[in-house]
Amino acid sequence: MSNRGVLIVLSGPSGVGKGTVRQAIFENYENDFEFSISMTTRGKRPGEVEGKDYFYSSREEFEELIAQDGFLEYAEYVDNLYGTPLKYVEDTLASGRDVFLEIEVQGAKQVQKKMPEGIFVFLVPPNFKELEDRLVHRGSESHELVQQRLSKAVDELRQIRYYDYVVVNDKVSNASRKVKNIIESEHLKVSRN
Ligand code: 5GP
Repeated sequence: MSNRGVLIVLSGPSGVGKGTVRQAIFENYENDFEFSISMTTRGKRPGEVEGKDYFYSSREEFEELIAQDGFLEYAEYVDNLYGTPLKYVEDTLASGRDVFLEIEVQGAKQVQKKMPEGIFVFLVPPNFKELEDRLVHRGSESHELVQQRLSKAVDELRQIRYYDYVVVNDKVSNASRKVKNIIESEHLKVSRN
């Protein structure tokens, strides 16, 4: 147990700022700490980079990997598939490095079943109005898509009870510091040493 890396799962409703908080965590974190890059069938957004933000794939390729049990978890989200490639997570944890997943709530639920020893952190918006503003101002999607994501977010917020920690994303610097503190505390646990 002691040499294995820690699995950290950051989840929460779409638009809450998981991506921004994750970036802030990765900007200045000295530990061995790996971000698991997901596979998705959604199209690339402007500014996104293949192999850095996501591995972009066709639905056929994605379904092939599902058939091969190649995902730790996957979920259909607003008409697209998103998944965490299993091998990378297993190899990295086995080598003693931490793995950080940033995923939506259906996927996090699957990880809770398969790797319950992980740390599950739920990021929430300070209030619902703010979540709506963030989704609208992201500006990359149609009104209809924003509405779909918003109604999904209401359902997702109900999942909070399954998590170990809840962090309010009032300010990215506060939220990222809190997530880092959670990870550091995990390493200090007597049961891990
Ligand atoms: P977006 O399209 O905005 O990049 O992502 C949509 C949602 O999918 C976000 O909540 C994001 O955290 C989540 N997501 C990204 N990668 C994965 C993954 O590998 N698995 C799951 N279940 N969700 C993911």
